[in-house]
Amino acid sequence: MSVLKINNVSKLFAGSVRAVDSFSLDVADGELVCLLGPSGSGKSTLLRMVGGFETPTGGQITIDGEDITRLPPEKRPTGMVFQSHALWTHMSVFKNLAFGLKLRRIPAAEIKRRVEGVLELVGLAGYGDRHVAKLSGGQQQRVALARSLVLEPKILLLDEPFASLDQHLRERLREEVRDIQQRLGITTLFVTHGQDEALSMADRIVVMRDGRTEQIDRPDVVYREPQTPFVAGFIGTMN
Ligand code: ADP
Ligand code: MG
Repeated sequence: MSVLKINNVSKLFAGSVRAVDSFSLDVADGELVCLLGPSGSGKSTLLRMVGGFETPTGGQITIDGEDITRLPPEKRPTGMVFQSHALWTHMSVFKNLAFGLKLRRIPAAEIKRRVEGVLELVGLAGYGDRHVAKLSGGQQQRVALARSLVLEPKILLLDEPFASLDQHLRERLREEVRDIQQRLGITTLFVTHGQDEALSMADRIVVMRDGRTEQIDRPDVVYREPQTPFVAGFIGTMN
C-alpha cells in the first residue's frame, strides 16, 4: 500500500524555471526510492516540497491519505537530511537533535530518551555532549541522519547526504543507512546524482530530467535496460 502519494506536482520558480513539472510518484510502505538525475533535474526541489520547505505551484502531496501539500515542516510526519547537512556546528550533538523535538513540544524526559536511542542507532552512543564542529565529516553526517530519525518520521528524506565524503566512507555510510532504514521499516526518498549509489541502494529508481520522470523501475531493470543517456553512459563506463 502506498504511504506517500505525489500527484502531478509542479514547481515554477519566479523567472520561469520549471524545476518540477507535473511529477507523480507513489511510494509503498517501507520502500526506499532513489531519485537519480543530473544536476538541475529538480531532485532537491521535489524533496523540499515533500518536506515542506517549498510550496508546490500545482498538484498535491498526501501521506497516509492526508493532504500535507501546504503544511509547515514541523506539522508533517517527515524528517529531512539536507544536501549541506545544515547542523549547528557550534552547538552540542544533543542540542542539534533536541531542537526539532522541542518545536513539536515533546517533554524533556522523552527528548532525552529518544536522543540517546537514536545516537546508539547511528553508532554515536555517548556523543551527546560533543560539539558538532569537533566531529569528523562522517560523524557529522551521522548526526544529520540522527537529527531526522529522532523525529520518528513516517517518511525519511535524504538529499545527497554523502556528497561531501570520500568514496570509502560514502560506501560504508550507504550500507549503514540501508541497514537502519530496513530495520526501522521507514519509507525513504533518497536523492543522489550518483548512479552507483542508486543502483546499490534502491528498491526502485526514478531517473529525473528537467523536473520529469525519464524512467522508473527496479535497479536491476534500470541496469539491464537503461532508457536514459544518464544511466546508459554510466553503465558503459563500468563495462
Ligand atoms: P537538483 O537537485 O536535481 O540538482 P534542483 O531542484 O536544485 O535540482 O534545481 C532544479 C532547477 O530549479 C534548477 O534549474 C535550479 O536552478 C532551479 N532552482 C532551484 N531552486 C531555485 C530557487 N530557489 N529559485 C530559482 N530557481 C531555483
Ligand atoms: Mg540537489
